[in-house]
Amino acid sequence: MRVLVTGGAGFIGSHLCERLIQDGHDVLCLDNLFTGSKRNIDQLLDSHRFELIRHDIIEPILLETDRIFNLACPASPVHYQYNPVKTIKTNVMGTINMLGLAKRVKARILQASTSEVYGDPLVHPQCENYWGNVNPIGIRSCYDEGKRVAETLMMDYHRQNGVDIRIVRIFNTYGPRMALNDGRVVSNFIVQALRGEDITVYGDGQQTRSFCYVDDLVEGLILLMKDGNCAEPVNIGNPAETSILEFATRIIDLTGSSSRIVFMDLPSDDPRQRQPDITQARRMLGWNPRVDVETGLKKTIEYFERILNTGRGDLDI
Ligand code: NAD
Ligand code: UDP
Repeated sequence: MRVLVTGGAGFIGSHLCERLIQDGHDVLCLDNLFTGSKRNIDQLLDSHRFELIRHDIIEPILLETDRIFNLACPASPVHYQYNPVKTIKTNVMGTINMLGLAKRVKARILQASTSEVYGDPLVHPQCENYWGNVNPIGIRSCYDEGKRVAETLMMDYHRQNGVDIRIVRIFNTYGPRMALNDGRVVSNFIVQALRGEDITVYGDGQQTRSFCYVDDLVEGLILLMKDGNCAEPVNIGNPAETSILEFATRIIDLTGSSSRIVFMDLPSDDPRQRQPDITQARRMLGWNPRVDVETGLKKTIEYFERILNTGRGDLDI
């Protein structure tokens, strides 16, 4: 099949492109390289089944494809808040463009949504029928509300135009190829620990997250895209919940670092708790996360060690 992956040079997108090539598909990667990098897809550039087009999805594009994975959007709060208007445009205009394309060429389209649609959740763990608790005017709104509109657009194109859609609500995902300067907690803590710098815990560290290894997530995306699955949103994440303070200690232990933990201001609207209810993914897709957090973190730590040791660690976080 011809598969279009927007955001394919990013962290998750590059793993997805790799998996799709392995599965025998022709992959077209569209990326504006804002947070993505050609380095992430270096190993694919020689394949005759892989093509990269430098393109911004807020502009329309005409091409032939059978499947679209719409992943283009910065995912780290630091990066999506850098140019919030652009973030909204990517989620709204970019999603309209990809839905227009899907409609025209009759392609199935999967939208990467997020656990952020639940905002600072009042229901725990979060199941798909929870409508969320989102601040519409805060500093995270460009992303949270942008993704909520993207979901609305998906459902409306589906109901109005019969577009074949999938929506995945991705919970915190980590692994090799997260950018060194990404600003998210996993890469920050690992890089700080490896450099012997202070580990920056925001707030008191009692807020929780549940971390999913990237290979598990990619498997979930592939399964969700298959025939016969439904248009309703599906959570994909690892329910293993941890406080951020516990997580910092874990990274220090796994890296054998001498770093100290320091506490810094909590950014506004930082969700206090987050854990996916994955009943739906288990029932509908037969999906379960397989990689436990310790194994996933060890692989991620090895990756960052390699990056730092090969002189590519010159980016500041
Ligand atoms: P990332 O920042 O590494 O990748 C995003 C990619 O999209 C980058 O390659 C970037 O250059 C590209 N991009 C951004 N804006 C674009 C535009 N306007 N046009 C074309 N390309 C553009 O982030 P990621 O972690 O790989 O996330 C991928 C997707 O998954 C995003 O949609 C994100 O919202 C979603 N998601 C990720 C997580 C996570 O924990 N990683 C959690 C929830 C949702
Ligand atoms: N966080 C932290 N130190 C950091 C980066 C993040 O304590 O250096 C916290 C952040 O405040 C949040 C959690 O870690 O409570 C997860 O942050 P991240 O940006 O990775 O993802 P998100 O908040 O979008 O889930």
